[in-house]
Amino acid sequence: MLMDTIAAISTPLGEGGIAVIRVSGLDAVPSVERIFRSKTKLSNAETHTVHYGYIVEPASAERIEEVLVTLMKAPRSFTMENVVEISCHGGIVSVKKVLDLLLQQPGVRLAEPGEFTKRAFLNGRIDLTQAEAVIDLIRAKSDRAFKVALKQVEGNLSKQIKQLRYVLVELMAHVEVNIDYPEHDVEEMTNALIKGKCEQVGAEIDRLLITAEQGKILREGIETAIVGRPNVGKSSLLNELAQENRAIVTDIPGTTRDVIEEFVNVGGVPLKLLDTAGIRETTDIVEQIGVERSKTALAEADLILLVLNRSEELQLDEIAMMKQLADRQTIVILNKIDLPQRLDVDIVRGYFPKERIVELSLIENKGIEQLEKAISNIFFEGKLESSDLTYVSNIRHISLLKQAKRSLTDALEANEQYVPIDMIQIDIRAAWEYLGEIIGDSVGESLIDQIFTQFCLGK
Ligand code: GDP
Ligand code: ZN
Repeated sequence: MLMDTIAAISTPLGEGGIAVIRVSGLDAVPSVERIFRSKTKLSNAETHTVHYGYIVEPASAERIEEVLVTLMKAPRSFTMENVVEISCHGGIVSVKKVLDLLLQQPGVRLAEPGEFTKRAFLNGRIDLTQAEAVIDLIRAKSDRAFKVALKQVEGNLSKQIKQLRYVLVELMAHVEVNIDYPEHDVEEMTNALIKGKCEQVGAEIDRLLITAEQGKILREGIETAIVGRPNVGKSSLLNELAQENRAIVTDIPGTTRDVIEEFVNVGGVPLKLLDTAGIRETTDIVEQIGVERSKTALAEADLILLVLNRSEELQLDEIAMMKQLADRQTIVILNKIDLPQRLDVDIVRGYFPKERIVELSLIENKGIEQLEKAISNIFFEGKLESSDLTYVSNIRHISLLKQAKRSLTDALEANEQYVPIDMIQIDIRAAWEYLGEIIGDSVGESLIDQIFTQFCLGK
């Protein structure tokens, strides 16, 4: 497939210092060559080689930046097109200069977000789940989400989906063969087979859907409510977390920053703080949103930060609050430890284990690290750490999995009621097709025919 040439800054996540520009398409090599001076001519170079040299302004021959240029010729590249990557050492300012210069070259334009991945998919380099995982990766808001996205790139989900589809295809083939033998005992065998296989695949889908919940938490951030009486330091805490823990922002053009700003990354855990859109304008979000809304938020929160003022005695409503929160995921923050202590910590310990209680001074900036540690512990010690990393973290996948599951349930019900088998076959096939949509496999008709042909020949 011939496509125009796109370029963008694509600095890998988690790698500071150097910045990389990726160029892909028909004119990738000649356009870079025009602005790059090195010992070997790029167009004569072997694929998968790295070249040291300078980016120069072609008209004036002025040196812009010292760079390393990597050449990956089609089809052995991520997009399966000619790809050139320019690594700049001079940080973001000079990388922008290089990109600008490149975009002035004929036939080169700025890539849209995810466009390299789209090309990789269109050119058959990766399947749909992998493509979507890369897009998630671009948007990944935490280290953890990054790893999940990465695993998916490696094709974990596709592999499992393919296995499930194989079970269904095999089942359909068996059923098809048995339809040709309308004797009673064969029919009974077929019903038993349908029951067994549909239940098996259904259970696997359920398992994937459970992990989807966790995937959702990772993608969207853990809903975190900060609660406590007036004046204990809630707003100060909110500001502290928002300031000190900027969400990871990639340098991919078009990444919407306003969305990311709703998130803070605390010790590798993405938190979605309440209504953070207003953090900068107002000093007090928690009071501002009103009692009713904070109650709902509290009910829905995945994590609660209860702030108490350690320099005052506990109030009755605070004790009531602790009772109410004892069985929720709560971290108790004893703030204002720079002032003399008047709060009886033993009462707090009666409700919460000590690893959930953190002493802080937001004014003197003390104890923030312990708070971060407590947050990351509460997160990573949960189920998330022990279960494998095949999270389904994509809304489209979740919905297709649910549809596949529903078709299997229909098949099972029809099977119970001894509906004619070719009717049941329709539901099984629908499930197979929904799963196929997840991995972008639309060969449907031909593949299934092929398998049937093979099977029938073999009998
Ligand atoms: P909120 O009403 O719970 O949101 O509390 P604020 O964050 O608005 O803080 C109330 C007051 O307590 C402000 O004057 C803060 O400067 C002060 N404050 C917050 N944290 C600390 C602390 O650690 N030590 C002391 N001494 N004062 C604090
Ligand atoms: Zn306040």
